Amino acid sequence: MSESFKIGDTLSFLNNPRNLANKRQADARSGDFNEIYFKSDEENLIKQADRCLDCGNPYCEWKCPLHNFIPNWLDMVTHGQFEQAASLMHATNPLPEICGRVCPQDRLCEQACTLNTGLGAVTIGAIEKNIADQAIAHNWRPDLSAVKSLNKSVAVIGAGPAGLGCAELLTRNGVKVVVYDKYPEIGGLLTFGIPGFKLEKSILIKRREFLQDIGVEFKLNTEIGIDISIKQLQQDYDSLFLGMGTYKAVDGNLAGKDLPNVIQSLDYLIGNINQQKSYQMDKCYYDLKGKEVIVLGGGDTAMDCVRSAIRQQAASVKCVYRKNEAAMPGSKTEVQNAKEEGVQFIFNLQPTEITPEGVAFERTDFDELKHKDKTVFLNSDKVVLAFGFRANPAQWFDEAAIKTTDNGLIQTKQTLQTTNKKIYAGGDMVSGADLVVTAIAQGREAAKNILSDFGLVDD
Ligand SMILES: Cc1cc2nc3c(=O)[nH]c(=O)nc-3n(C[C@H](O)[C@H](O)[C@H](O)COP(=O)(O)OP(=O)(O)OC[C@H]3O[C@@H](n4cnc5c(N)ncnc54)[C@H](O)[C@@H]3O)c2cc1C
Ligand code: SF4
Repeated sequence: MSESFKIGDTLSFLNNPRNLANKRQADARSGDFNEIYFKSDEENLIKQADRCLDCGNPYCEWKCPLHNFIPNWLDMVTHGQFEQAASLMHATNPLPEICGRVCPQDRLCEQACTLNTGLGAVTIGAIEKNIADQAIAHNWRPDLSAVKSLNKSVAVIGAGPAGLGCAELLTRNGVKVVVYDKYPEIGGLLTFGIPGFKLEKSILIKRREFLQDIGVEFKLNTEIGIDISIKQLQQDYDSLFLGMGTYKAVDGNLAGKDLPNVIQSLDYLIGNINQQKSYQMDKCYYDLKGKEVIVLGGGDTAMDCVRSAIRQQAASVKCVYRKNEAAMPGSKTEVQNAKEEGVQFIFNLQPTEITPEGVAFERTDFDELKHKDKTVFLNSDKVVLAFGFRANPAQWFDEAAIKTTDNGLIQTKQTLQTTNKKIYAGGDMVSGADLVVTAIAQGREAAKNILSDFGLVDD
């Protein structure tokens, strides 16, 4: 530790400016799908944690959908108590190493930090990620020796963040949990959506091993409704939790959307991951090397597509969004990363038609004094549609007496119990396409209510 640094200095937040871990240079990182941030060293972690003002009313904690005990674990990090900090992180979050990487902190915990008023918010996400990574590297495990079996079993359908959030909490409370997923690895969109430069796939494998160690059983490559019926699961388990996500791509009914030069964002991203990891899934691989690429959309999915195309050495990559930059719904950090890597951003253009040669747009900010034409045409070889996702209710919902809303999302009570008393649901299939951390929060909430049905209260 440098001599000038004193732990607990009341002016620490000024003397130690906000400092995220360094990133790999844009040129170097654009050549591969590995993560872009270097590990933070211990000294920087302690200095950054020590910037917390411990403001009494922790707005960060309220804004975090999991209500993580942020100031408490920051204090532990400040005092070098990393194992205790990791344990406290895991008390509210089963996937801290993942949230630290992919949460849009600039809209959540760090936005609410008292220092986020020009002084630079505490780097909460980066600290969470680094400490949770240490827990995995050192094999720090929770002591579950006192947990008694409840002689109850729950089937979780979907190994995405909602399903994992539910499975972990139930297991920690003595419930036997079996998680079913149609894909060959756990994670849902964490594995088969978000690219490796934001979240390396080895992290999910380590998390699976950890969950298996504490007693969660996974049955992968198993689709409910095809390989096993919902009726069978209802017979075999005391309760069920559904965390199956939302997978119907929005296409805006855009003219030309079915042309061969058009790719749906998730098809593109999954095809890439399947090819990189040799998963043998029946997914098409799209190689955009040397292509002029346009990505339509402005959220996290669009950012993942443009940055993947850069890494495939596309000749040019344009992200075209219908509103202005401030209105973009995704993480600002990811937009900045995309800009550094060479993505061109064009704002205020609404697509009106895709042709084999490119995309026609209308300006949404047309001003006769500033613009010659109201319409614009941009040439491209490939167009990626990243307009978001809608619900895709399973055919067996009726058979299981599960009702949906008009837009196909599952109807639940506040407890996340569906219209079938034995079945709970959470994550994107209840809220609509949202965030990893909100899906985990719902999985945990449902688990608490399932435990309460079993006569147990999670403390
Ligand atoms: C490209 C992309 C990038 C994103 N980036 C971010 C980000 O940076 N930060 C962030 O917070 N959020 C991000 N999101 C959103 C986030 O990934 C989702 O909100 C979150 O994964 C939802 O979790 P879930 O558990 O509800 O569903 P999912 O993650 O979709 O998991 C559902 C699982 O259910 C399985 N399943 C479905 N039907 C069946 C069946 N019948 N039988 C067996 N298994 C079944 C699926 O195979 C899947 O594994 C992104 C989304 C996308 C598409
Ligand atoms: S889970 Fe997400 S919102 Fe909550 S503290 Fe961690 S990074 Fe922030």
